[in-house]
Amino acid sequence: MTTVGLPPGEKWRRFELQALGFRDFAGVHSDGALDPFRLASFANLLVVDFDRIKNLSETTRDRLLGSASEEWSGGACSHSLPDGRRIVILNPNHGPARTNATLMEEISHVFLGHQPSRLKVLATNKSGRTVARDYRRTDEEAAYATGAAALVPFAALRRFVLAGQQSSQIAKHFRVSRELVEYRLKVTRLWRLYQSAAAT
Ligand SMILES: [Zn+2]
Repeated sequence: MTTVGLPPGEKWRRFELQALGFRDFAGVHSDGALDPFRLASFANLLVVDFDRIKNLSETTRDRLLGSASEEWSGGACSHSLPDGRRIVILNPNHGPARTNATLMEEISHVFLGHQPSRLKVLATNKSGRTVARDYRRTDEEAAYATGAAALVPFAALRRFVLAGQQSSQIAKHFRVSRELVEYRLKVTRLWRLYQSAAAT
């Protein structure tokens, strides 16, 4: 089955359909930029400003915003508030493009019904660093991929590519990083089309 509005591959079509559901829910039109901050409350997430966290020692604060700033992008607390909401803290040093992707991933975990692991999983990432995972690996992949699809939907991405737009222009339009757009071009197999469109 070929569906014009969906990427190839069963898994990617599933992620895309879920992402389109998120976009519908947010009421954003097919080419529009999705603002995850407007979706957070529907996912029962409370985004708390880093500066509002009390009881952080100056050393910890300096480390989180200084030397360790590249090592964390944000995350949700595993315990809920009495009203059921969960707190999400985002790295204030990361610009809006990265923050949008981080928050969208947290929202995806909730909308996709992922259950946090009871124990934080410590794993080694591709660059050899130890990272904490809050969900099963397959759930992490699904949340990231679906969140990215919600931010940069396939059909609109394809239209922009055919119109000869650069990844940096597309990134600006969707308020995400160029890396996220290029990841989407690759996983939805638009990369070749993108490169030939750029060459002409
Ligand atoms: Zn995650």
